[in-house]
Amino acid sequence: MPGFLADLTGSFATSAAQNPTVVVMEAAYAHAELDIRYINCEVPPERLGDAVRGAVGMGWLGFNCSIPHKVAILDYLDAMAASAGIIGAVNCVINRDGHLTGENTDGQGFVASLRTVIDPTGVDMVVLGAGGAARAIAVESALAGARSITIVNRTRKRGEELAALVADRTPAQSSYVPWDGAYVVPESTAVLVNATSIGFQPSVDIPDVAPSSIRPGLVVADVVANPPDTAFLQLAQAQGAITLQGLGMLVNQALTNARLWTGRDLDADVMHRALTASLLP
Ligand code: NDP
Repeated sequence: MPGFLADLTGSFATSAAQNPTVVVMEAAYAHAELDIRYINCEVPPERLGDAVRGAVGMGWLGFNCSIPHKVAILDYLDAMAASAGIIGAVNCVINRDGHLTGENTDGQGFVASLRTVIDPTGVDMVVLGAGGAARAIAVESALAGARSITIVNRTRKRGEELAALVADRTPAQSSYVPWDGAYVVPESTAVLVNATSIGFQPSVDIPDVAPSSIRPGLVVADVVANPPDTAFLQLAQAQGAITLQGLGMLVNQALTNARLWTGRDLDADVMHRALTASLLP
């Protein structure tokens, strides 16, 4: 006999209207015949506490928090996963009878996506950017065994802070390189990641990297998921690089969130199809 009471999950962010995760999660729950909903909520900073208490009061399995709540949410948590503690930001909260645990699945999603094309163990990586996505990617890739992470960022302070964080809190080596003029990718680099917001629709800008230093076989990943094939990835493809879309990171992150909330492995292909369809112009 069908029940009338679904389990609840969702997202707190502002602005929430452009976030396609609801489409991805609801498609995957339906495909797995799980009676679970994902509610996309517009939550301004001053309402985060109310939203968290509401989720606990209603017995939600957990929720995502996105911009601008990824650091503010720390005040409401009872525990944090080790990597989230190093990154200093949380995008996924698990509720167990009112006990809230924070995880950062942005970086985990990236590493899972990266593993489809290369084993990160022992590789030299370059990360363009030092914001929230770059922090999660750099820390999680270092914890996954990368040998070195070079941080290239426009603003020196943020870049230096991230390089110091990786060097101090993970086994990887890390250094900061100022981004003044076209960045020349060192020959030893196995993975180059655009973790800046450059190229997000409708922009067709490309991060300033010397095209000739993008050699055949280099893995080039973009965090920008919309459009899936960014102008940067198109350039990398033309240079013979192996490219990885931001969509892969997003889907793998959603898979991890669902596993943490429900203990179930959902269907990545269903998620990928739902996401691609939601991004069509
Ligand atoms: P932040 O605002 O925290 O960081 C933005 C970064 O981009 C900073 O390092 C900033 O440099 C750099 N940057 C922005 N514009 C320029 C520019 N014109 N020239 C050089 N550097 C620039 O953003 P997030 O880290 O949260 O997000 C970054 C991107 O990652 C977004 O597009 C977001 O949608 C995407 N993302 C994708 C995910 C996925 O699953 N695919 C998950 C999470 C995020 P500076 O420090 O100098 O300002």
